Amino acid sequence: MATPPTLAVWKFASCDGCQLSLLDCEDELLAVAGAVRIAHFLEASSAVAGGPYDISLVEGSVTTPADVARIHRVREQSGVLVTIGACATAGGIQALRNSADVDEFRRVVYARPEYVATLAESTPISAHVAVDYELRGCPISRAQLLELLSALLTGRRPRLPTHSVCFECKQRGTPCVLVAAGTPCLGPVTQAGCGAICPAYGRGCYGCFGPMAGADAGALASVLRAAGATGPDLARLYRTFNAAAPTFMAAAASAESVAGEAAGPGGDDDDSPK
Ligand code: SF4
Ligand code: SF4
Repeated sequence: MATPPTLAVWKFASCDGCQLSLLDCEDELLAVAGAVRIAHFLEASSAVAGGPYDISLVEGSVTTPADVARIHRVREQSGVLVTIGACATAGGIQALRNSADVDEFRRVVYARPEYVATLAESTPISAHVAVDYELRGCPISRAQLLELLSALLTGRRPRLPTHSVCFECKQRGTPCVLVAAGTPCLGPVTQAGCGAICPAYGRGCYGCFGPMAGADAGALASVLRAAGATGPDLARLYRTFNAAAPTFMAAAASAESVAGEAAGPGGDDDDSPK
């Protein structure tokens, strides 16, 4: 009988939510566990086997000098490397530091900041090593994870969406919250995969699956302003989960600059309605 491929799961700076999505696969996990040999998955077991590994799932972003060295070691030992979640694919929530002063954060949060080795920016795994596939979301979609694993195990191309969340709203018959209710929504520029959960509950999408390939997130700004997301609120909307995704980062910076110009020198930089 052929030896099953080995699977390793690695954690960098993250909340573990995406690894929990794998554990949360319940019934399917038994099939996955039967099809692979789980060689390294500390969230599930302290028993680890040495590499090389056929498939590596990497959660989390690179935020420390030690992370930089470790991700290169993971890449060297991995056949296929898949990044899972907003942290690993776009720096995650911790990339909010990229537009702030990380030394100030360190001083405010830690009693002995001199012991905390951290980088000025949180960066996605792809900024450091070659990545074979990316699964978006905060957390990732279980269905997409299972689709990717079964595609890798059967040697076919995974079917992962490249269209926007708007498409999923139309599929499930959800009225557009932006057009019908004037709710600021990033759905038009966000990659599908969640099933348009937030609009289905009357909320705007805040972009947790990151920008759709080729999206110009800034082009949506005038529509979002008309819906009431202005100044710092607009910048926050773009930054929330995928602050280091280039098109969201540029759109947030542009929103801040427009707000700053509207406020004028020494003025209130919040241009939201008073
Ligand atoms: S992407 Fe979200 S759920 Fe996944 S590890 Fe990062 S913060 Fe947690
Ligand atoms: S609608 Fe947007 S914010 Fe909500 S789960 Fe989907 S991608 Fe994430």
